[in-house]
Amino acid sequence: MIENKKSWQKELSEAVTTVDELVDLGYVKRENAEKLKRIGEKYPISVTRYYLNLIEKNDYSDPIYKMCIASLEEGTAQGLKDTSGELCNTVSEGIQHKYDNTVLLLSTNVCSMYCRYCFRKRLVGQSEEEILKFTDKAIKYIEEHPEVDNVLISGGDALLNTNKVISRYLSGLSKIKHLKFIRFGTRTPVVFPQRINGDSEFIELFEKYSKIKTIYLVTQFNHPRELTKEAVAATDKMRHAGVPVLNQTVLLKGVNDNSDILATLFNELASNGISPYYLFQCRPVKGVKDLFAVPLLTSCSITDKTKAKLSGVAKRFKFAMSHIKGKIEIIGKIESGKLIFKQHQAKSKGDINNLFFVDVDKNTYWLSDDLTG
Ligand code: SF4
Repeated sequence: MIENKKSWQKELSEAVTTVDELVDLGYVKRENAEKLKRIGEKYPISVTRYYLNLIEKNDYSDPIYKMCIASLEEGTAQGLKDTSGELCNTVSEGIQHKYDNTVLLLSTNVCSMYCRYCFRKRLVGQSEEEILKFTDKAIKYIEEHPEVDNVLISGGDALLNTNKVISRYLSGLSKIKHLKFIRFGTRTPVVFPQRINGDSEFIELFEKYSKIKTIYLVTQFNHPRELTKEAVAATDKMRHAGVPVLNQTVLLKGVNDNSDILATLFNELASNGISPYYLFQCRPVKGVKDLFAVPLLTSCSITDKTKAKLSGVAKRFKFAMSHIKGKIEIIGKIESGKLIFKQHQAKSKGDINNLFFVDVDKNTYWLSDDLTG
């Protein structure tokens, strides 16, 4: 039995958010502090105490460390700004409607941990511009769009909303007949499982509404060491509340760009009842491209090697990129050296299932907007 004496809000308030604290705790060398502070002014820092404790201390190449503590190069790395066209899909503040049947809600700009590779880097903790302020407005938008049959409530981290906000979403959305299912996008089970394990009211909400409308939790485990007993307990609680848990892993240089690590991760996910759903090509966003993104040819070969080590259940995931043109599956390399892609979801309906080949080289990290390479 996991004991949770503190409220999750109190635990969250104890997250480490300053470079000075990281220095005092021995995670950052004092001589690097000033430079990291300047990076932190642009790209905020937050690491929960729980996640900090997963780090192998004194190992600056530790994958857990890399995901949560900024490197000195973070501010200077090259990259694109809006790789999936989020701005042009925004129909109203915090509401994105890219595909006819799916709406994405940016329900909060808060995360318990600011992942250093995050593609929403330009948003997190900085601008309220694309963040949903009024839950009721989002529910009304979906009510008025009968073509929408599913909604993804994301953020920031959707589970850092208060129970009152989550309850408002669940009660409003579960009444909409044309809505078939609701997804919550969150890294909370991975970086802050206390929010789930320590709040019975939260679990009761999901127990109640999962009987009325299908609800999925979409989370993001990137490394087998993140599957701790606390994290698994959190996903178990959701599953037992009637909420299936799906996992989207991001392929990250220096973290999981290795078929043994990925195979272990996907096997452990499957054995803990968490469905491997997507493996995502890391978005070469501004500020992190050189630090985390893996060239497409390399990531394709890692994926093939990983799949060769897995059973059917553990390799159900699709290797994909969330591109401005839609969700594009990266199928594999053919003899000519070209990569073969399939448009899995498309902004324009006629493009769905479109199969195409692109010449890529060892420096190709992403496809251009016109999908030519
Ligand atoms: S929890 Fe999600 S939105 Fe927040 S920083 Fe991490 S990847 Fe980005």
